[in-house]
Amino acid sequence: MPNDDLFCKIAAGEESAHKVYESENVIAFLDINPVNPGHILITPKKHYNDLLAADDEILQEMILVTRKVAAGIILAFDEYDAFNLKLNNGRIAGQVIPHLHWHIIPRKSGDGLTQWPGKQYGEGEAEEVAEKIKNQLA
Ligand SMILES: [Zn+2]
Repeated sequence: MPNDDLFCKIAAGEESAHKVYESENVIAFLDINPVNPGHILITPKKHYNDLLAADDEILQEMILVTRKVAAGIILAFDEYDAFNLKLNNGRIAGQVIPHLHWHIIPRKSGDGLTQWPGKQYGEGEAEEVAEKIKNQLA
């Protein structure tokens, strides 16, 4: 069911985007505020709020499109030989448009994008945390 967010409008052709690839269910287009030129958004045409809401089949198609487009970016630009795949799932994680999408960010040395800071687990904490998650997956 379509929503009125920007990505539903792009999927419906009501808003324009610089599309680089489109299949029956998935579109890939330029992020309008790129970290580096060629920064791409991968999104399903059908509306899902986020990763947890999406069907298995659409996620499979999205990751295959992601690999195809990422390989194309690397081939298209001499300066890139690496990329980050980034999903902001939920508002607090930085998701701005409430329609599932993830970013392919082509990388070059000195581009200013840094990795997230890492913390340390306390004594016995890693075991507790792993157990808590495992219990929800059993
Ligand atoms: Zn939507």
